[in-house]
Amino acid sequence: MSETSNHRDVIIIGSGPAGYTAGIYTSRARLSVLIISGTLPGGQLMTTSEVENYPGFPTGIFGPELMMNMRQQAERFGAAIVDDEVIKVDFKKRPFTITTHAETYTADAVIIATGASPRKIGISGEQKYGGRGVSYCATCDGPFFRGEDIVVVGGGDTAVEEATFLTKFGKSVRIVHRRDSLRASKIMAEKALANPKIKFSWNSVVTDITGDKKVSAVTIKDTNTGKESKITAGGIFVAIGHEPNTAVFRGHLDLDDKGYMVLKDHTRTSVEGVFAAGDVHDHRYRQAVTAAGFGCMAAIDVERWLSEQRHGN
Ligand code: NAP
Repeated sequence: MSETSNHRDVIIIGSGPAGYTAGIYTSRARLSVLIISGTLPGGQLMTTSEVENYPGFPTGIFGPELMMNMRQQAERFGAAIVDDEVIKVDFKKRPFTITTHAETYTADAVIIATGASPRKIGISGEQKYGGRGVSYCATCDGPFFRGEDIVVVGGGDTAVEEATFLTKFGKSVRIVHRRDSLRASKIMAEKALANPKIKFSWNSVVTDITGDKKVSAVTIKDTNTGKESKITAGGIFVAIGHEPNTAVFRGHLDLDDKGYMVLKDHTRTSVEGVFAAGDVHDHRYRQAVTAAGFGCMAAIDVERWLSEQRHGN
């Protein structure tokens, strides 16, 4: 294969657990690999504290440390990594073209692992207390809120599921929802409504998050009366949905109505030779370990697909 410095067998877009795992597998398969890391190298785990549920770390590991380890592991086998953002793609002709702020690259195959971002409320205190009481993942952070009063924002399946999970740890759990009924599926909503440990603030929105070193109170506004009240809270879980990071692929690949990548045969997008892995298509599990698993699957599929293209087997 003719190689220019900007051509690779595989370009991986994204650097969460899916992207780095795909990097480890494809570079170990002796393919030339470039990972374009995106605006948050390491992905969502860079903004979490301790990860207790990633297998292999019996005493836990900090999210950023886990991601640095994955990055080094991919580099060890030869994957190159550039900390840049993809701004344009051309999947119409091969080799595929990928443009970042700094460069234009070409690749025989592409793995998209750009993940998803939790939707933000966009209020004062949300960013300030990120990782210090404001969380977007109960499965990840719930156990750190033992004995605390916890607020959960949202009315969908995630909010209800997270609130139910958080009752195991919190002194109290309050769902704050902007409407007077839950969007969550009937069975999950009924379960939450019947749970004596979950209280509800209907027709309400969170307008402020305050504290000192960490969150200590949340201000809630009743949207009917406009009245605001400040309640004690040691933690606030924002569960108002995720947004897949797919804007740059719109019009180039099939996306569902929420913007998630539509796949067939586990890892294949609507363009042959372009694969996807992780939260960019998976809105069901959204775990580091499942994303890593999808990254491995995409890498194996890429290796086989390239081999078929080149050698017919
Ligand atoms: P979702 O269904 O889109 O629900 C988001 C919730 O947040 C809605 O109640 C919405 O209010 C509220 N919301 C959105 N923006 C808001 C804002 N700016 N301020 C305040 N509230 C806001 O998202 P999700 O709950 O994450 O679920 C995503 C998908 O995963 C769904 O298809 C869900 O069924 C699925 N899921 C399934 C399971 C399961 O089956 N075990 C578990 C989790 C998720 P409105 O109701 O007023 O729109």
